[in-house]
Amino acid sequence: MTTSIETSFIDNSALMLRAVNIGKTFTLHGQGGVQIEALTGVSLDVERGECVVLVGPSGAGKSTLLRCLYGNYLASTGTIAIRDDAQETKHLRITGAEPRDVLYLRRGVVGYVSQFLHVIPRVSTLDLVAEPLVSRGVDAGDAHARARALLARLNVPERLWALAPATFSGGEQQRVNIARGLIAEHPVLLLDEPTASLDAENRDIVARLIVEARERGAAIVGIFHDEDTRAKVATRRLELRPPLRHAAALH
Ligand code: ADP
Ligand code: MG
Repeated sequence: MTTSIETSFIDNSALMLRAVNIGKTFTLHGQGGVQIEALTGVSLDVERGECVVLVGPSGAGKSTLLRCLYGNYLASTGTIAIRDDAQETKHLRITGAEPRDVLYLRRGVVGYVSQFLHVIPRVSTLDLVAEPLVSRGVDAGDAHARARALLARLNVPERLWALAPATFSGGEQQRVNIARGLIAEHPVLLLDEPTASLDAENRDIVARLIVEARERGAAIVGIFHDEDTRAKVATRRLELRPPLRHAAALH
């Protein structure tokens, strides 16, 4: 951990994430340098125990915002600060952070669950789910026990646990992905449509797990395609609109 991104400008230990004036413009280098403005001027504070649900039409920049918060995309404007309890009163700026600092934050502070599981060939479901705990130094036996409990709760059949999930159905892969994303109990969780291919019963179980994460104090930002899940998990909503320049291009 370097000190290059430490910042202590936020005097609020409940505040886990602060994004100020986030904008993102993509330049399509392969297509004549066309610029796409995906986000402009988005600000957001998220405290412990809050679940902010992003709403807005397709193309409004919801996924782009989550990727900026995860340090996956570098925001074109603005700053994002994340609290790391291991740094006492410090918040860390993910915008402009060096890659190793971003990786440090991802290991212990910020978790991200997308719609898709990135399958690693030949790694069993159980190992894949336990890995975020093992990589943080948790005893392998304890990590596996926790992985089993989560997989059982998510109705992933036990006969699949020793197999690599490459051949699983979309819904099974998604539940493995959620187990992997929630197992380490990151203090900040970013969820991009984690329930997109689940049936109502499993969506319900996932909503319950998200509420439990919230209740243990996680600060959550999420995108959910169905209103039912939004209503169950949200403590607040943030509406994103496609930037105007975008709308004008449609005429
Ligand atoms: P949402 O998740 O709200 O549906 P997105 O964040 O996926 O919206 O996309 C917002 C806009 O940014 C869209 O116009 C999309 O095409 C564009 N966009 C997203 N990611 C990229 C990228 N990697 N390169 C270029 N344009 C992108
Ligand atoms: Mg999206």
